[in-house]
Amino acid sequence: MGQFKGEGIVLRSMNLGEWDKLLTVFTQGQGRLKIVAKGARKIQSRYASLTQLFCNIRFTVYQGKSVHTFSQVELIEGFRPLREDLGRMAYGIYMLEMIDATLEEGQSHDDILSLLIACLHILSHTDHLELLLAFYELRLLSRLGWGLSLESCPVCGGKMGAKFSIQNLGFPCSACIPGGAGEKPLLTISLAAYSLLKTLCGGDWRRLEALPTGIPGEKEVAAVLDRIIYIKLEKRLESYVFLSQIRSTAR
Ligand SMILES: [Zn+2]
Repeated sequence: MGQFKGEGIVLRSMNLGEWDKLLTVFTQGQGRLKIVAKGARKIQSRYASLTQLFCNIRFTVYQGKSVHTFSQVELIEGFRPLREDLGRMAYGIYMLEMIDATLEEGQSHDDILSLLIACLHILSHTDHLELLLAFYELRLLSRLGWGLSLESCPVCGGKMGAKFSIQNLGFPCSACIPGGAGEKPLLTISLAAYSLLKTLCGGDWRRLEALPTGIPGEKEVAAVLDRIIYIKLEKRLESYVFLSQIRSTAR
């Protein structure tokens, strides 16, 4: 049986049989891989602490047809604060699941992996959970080819209109407003939310981190992004319920 090495983030961890775990690992160069950790649920297993959600691991696996098996694993970064704080955990799991839901198995996306690792680092200490999620979502959407147009009509590139179209991911001009049955209604977006979206798309994180928490437009931006993700993925992520509970206790 052949072996190969890799490294990546544990996106999903499921129990398998009596003692094993089946992990989905988002790896550098090879995208999402399914890997079995034999005996990972035994108390003394050397894998137990390395196969939890968020762990950034370096590994060697025995190559299988569609599912591989660990022969060696070591921890690069455990992201422990994300498992010790329910709020951080809810936002983090939602970030992981979004990748699991959008990328095909084996589809490599190292730019998205770097984004995820950078955002998990920030999530471990920041107080701006909602802003960070928006920052992450906008970059993820853009890397998936769903970037927002905030300066001009997303269809013709002309002067932008007044209302936001989820379908067009921007403000279409009057000539380009989508029509027809099944069209999503256009959204009115406040000036505060619009300028926050622009800051989020353009700025680096340090600038956003310096903003006060709960700034105007934040909840509106979160609601718009929730809708975009729901429409683009054509479903709600499972972890959305957990995230919504955490959001409602924070408000
Ligand atoms: Zn137009």
